[in-house]
This record gives sequence, C-alpha cells and structure tokens, in this order.
Amino acid sequence: MTIFRTGGVDIAPSAFLPGASTEVSFHPVWSALIRTTEGNVLFDTGLHPVHVERPDATFGPGNLKVVMAKEDSIVSRLSEIGIRPDDIAIVVNSHLHFDHAGNNGAFPKATFVVQGDHLAFAKGKPNFPGVYWDIPELSYLPVAGRARVAPGLEVVPTPGHAPGHQSLVVDLAETGRVVLCGDAAFTRLNLERGEIKQPDEAAAKESMALIRSLVEGDLDRVFTSHDPASFARWRHAPSVYR
Ligand SMILES: [Zn+2]
Repeated sequence: MTIFRTGGVDIAPSAFLPGASTEVSFHPVWSALIRTTEGNVLFDTGLHPVHVERPDATFGPGNLKVVMAKEDSIVSRLSEIGIRPDDIAIVVNSHLHFDHAGNNGAFPKATFVVQGDHLAFAKGKPNFPGVYWDIPELSYLPVAGRARVAPGLEVVPTPGHAPGHQSLVVDLAETGRVVLCGDAAFTRLNLERGEIKQPDEAAAKESMALIRSLVEGDLDRVFTSHDPASFARWRHAPSVYR
C-alpha cells in the first residue's frame, strides 16, 4: 500500500472537532494505492488539478481554500511510481465530495465501488459536484453494506459524514490490518475523543466506534482523512506498507 499526497485544504480545525482552534491551517488530502493479486486498487482520487491555477474553481471564494501543486494530481503521483491510469482496476471512493472523487474521470477503465445509497444521495446535489464523478463513461458498482473488493480488502459503511459513506479495511501481509477511514474521522483526535462535527453526529459516533473496534483500539492503524500531524508520521510514496 502506497500513500500519496493529492493536495490539501486550508480550513479551521473547529470545522472538524468541537472546541478546536478557529484559526485556519493546512490539512492534507491524500489517496492510497493497494496492489493486489486481482489488480491495482485506488482509494479516493483526490482533488482535480483545475485547483492548481484556480483554488476556488469548485465552490468560489469561501472558508475552505484548496492548496494544490501540479505534482499533487493523482495521475502525476501515480506516474512517479510508473503507474498509468489504465493500470487501475478498481477505485474505491469513500464518498463523492470533490476532495475524494475529484479525478474519477481519469480512470475510465476502472470499476468504481461506492455504496448504492451514497450514489443515490450524491446525485444532483451541488455539494457533490457531478462534473468530477457523474460521468457517463465511468462504471459504478453500487454495493450495499460490507463488501469484499479484492483479496484482503473490504469496504465497510461508516455513515455520518454522508449517507453511505464507507471506509476501506486493508489486511496487509506484514503490517496487518489498517483502516482507510475517509471522512468518517478527519483526524486522530476525533477517534481519541469520540467527538466530531458531522451532519449526522449520532451515526458518525457509531461509525467511529466501529472503526476503533476494527483495529482493536490501535489508532496507529487508522488513516484519517485530513490530519496534518498523523499524515506527517506516515510513509509516503515511493515508500510502501507491506
Ligand atoms: Zn474530505
């Protein structure tokens, strides 16, 4: 498994955690590649490179500012390790917000694994801009509940951020189990405190409890979505988790 930085957003931590700082700071956006015997699997596709020149291209000027360099686009990150878009067999989107599905259009050969209730929820909603994911050439495989994706890979519904949001459980040969939790937990502090700001906080708290149980409480095994402190400690491409 390889982790890539695919940009970031400037946002106040108080958007993620009750009582946290209201001062705006950098929060990373990332994707992961998992090589399996059934092909390459990509978890989330990051921010679209349109934001390199125009950070406010998607939502206009507001309190969430995209920070992105040219090399942060997922296609460019994959090419650094010799992978072309057509080498990706499966894409798992945690959900379809623009920082997690921004480059779905770059993978027309892949099968996209998304919870069916999330696809239905996101369709046509302005805060899930369809320009990045609702593209006729793409093949979506709607799943319902826990589902095997490839050997050692299973999606698990973790709603709260949005209906049908899902996390990816990855059982690695040497490292053991890790969970790529998407926006079910933005930072490790969310999981440590059991507190989070989400549209459905009750569902979100249940999802965080499930994530904790999946790793038997070992939070070093959870890859949270926009977590500057944790991200700095992880291995990044070209390093891998085996
Ligand atoms: Zn996000």
